[in-house]
Amino acid sequence: MGSFFSKNNAPFLIAGPCSIESRGQLEALLAAIAGIGEVDMIRCGVWKPRTRPGDFEGLGEEALRWIAEQKPRYPHLRFAAEVATPSHLEQCLKYGIDAVWIGARTSGNPFSVSELCEAMKGVSIPVLVKNPLIPDIKLWAGAIERVRNAGIGDVAAVHRGFFLDNNLGYRNNPLWKIPIELKRQYPDLPLFCDPSHICGKAELVAKVSQTAMDLSFDGLMIETHPAPADALTDARQQITPQQLSQLIAELRIPVKDNTLPDEMQMLRHEIDTIDGELLQLLRQRNDKSLKIAEIKRANNLSVLQLDRWEKLLQSHLAQAEAMGLSVEYVRRIFEEIHAESVRLQNEALHKD
Ligand code: PEP
Ligand code: MN
Repeated sequence: MGSFFSKNNAPFLIAGPCSIESRGQLEALLAAIAGIGEVDMIRCGVWKPRTRPGDFEGLGEEALRWIAEQKPRYPHLRFAAEVATPSHLEQCLKYGIDAVWIGARTSGNPFSVSELCEAMKGVSIPVLVKNPLIPDIKLWAGAIERVRNAGIGDVAAVHRGFFLDNNLGYRNNPLWKIPIELKRQYPDLPLFCDPSHICGKAELVAKVSQTAMDLSFDGLMIETHPAPADALTDARQQITPQQLSQLIAELRIPVKDNTLPDEMQMLRHEIDTIDGELLQLLRQRNDKSLKIAEIKRANNLSVLQLDRWEKLLQSHLAQAEAMGLSVEYVRRIFEEIHAESVRLQNEALHKD
C-alpha cells in the first residue's frame, strides 16, 4: 500500500476550482492558496462532464499546459485532475499531473473504468475514485477494486453524495451510511469527502466538512475559486480561498487515538450487552412467529393479518412516544421486524 494520501492527525486537503478557466484564474488561485499551509493538493477540472451539450466543457490540454507552467513555482503543492478516458490519463501523465480522480459519471460505468484501468497498468499515479451517482456500494467498491487490480498502490475513495428523489436540501443526498459501510469493508482505504458536490451551496460546505471530520473521514476535496460568482461551472458551491482558510481554521479534527476514556469504555460495554439482549429477543420473537405459522397453516389462516399489524403498530408507536423515543425510528424498526416475520411465515408455509 502506498502512502500518498496519509497525513498524521490531519485531514488531507484538496482544494481548487471546479474548472480551470484561464491562466489568470489559475495564477490568482495558486497565489492565494499557497498562503494556506494546510492545503496538500490542487484540484483542476480540465475536462468537465456536462449534463447538457453546449455548456463549458473545460479547456483540456491548454489548461494542462498552464498547470505544468505553474507547478515548479509551488513545490509543496501537488496537482490532480479528473480523467474519464485513457486519452485523458495519457495527457495528465504527459504534463506531470500528480494524481487523478475518476468522477461520479465514470465510476458507475464498469466499461469506462476497465478502459481507464487498462491504461493505468504499469503506471504509478495515485487515483481517487468518486462514488457513482447511484447509491450502489458494490458499483463504487467495484471501481476501487478494478483500480487496485491495475496495480495502483495509492487509491482513495471520495464521497460526493447521491442524486436521489429527496436530496434533503442538498444538491446530492449525503446518505452517510454508504461511505461508512465502505470504510467498514475497506478499513485501509483512505476515505475523502467532497462537501462541495454534496452541498451545491457555498454556505453549507463548512458544516458538511465538519460532519465528515466527525465521521473520521481522512480528507476533504473542496471547490475553491478566486471569484466564485464568475465561475463557468458550479458557481453556487465554490468558496473563496479566504473562506477556505476560515473553514480550515474552524474545523474541529477529532484525534485518531485508540486510548479511550474509561467511562466511555464502560458505556460501550453496556451497549454491547444491550445489543446482545436485543438479538436474543429477536431470536425469541422469530421462534414465536414460526409457531404461529404452524397454527395459521392448520387453521387455513392468511399470513398477513392487517388488522393485527395495524393495532400492534399503533400501540407500539403510542408507547414509543410516551417513552420519549422517536416515533419514526420505532416505526422503521417495527416495519422491518414485521416484514421479516411475514417473510419467515411465508417460507414456513411453503416449505413442503
Ligand atoms: C467535479 O469534481 O468537478 C465533478 C464533476 O464532480 P462529480 O464527478 O462528483 O460530479
Ligand atoms: Mn464541480
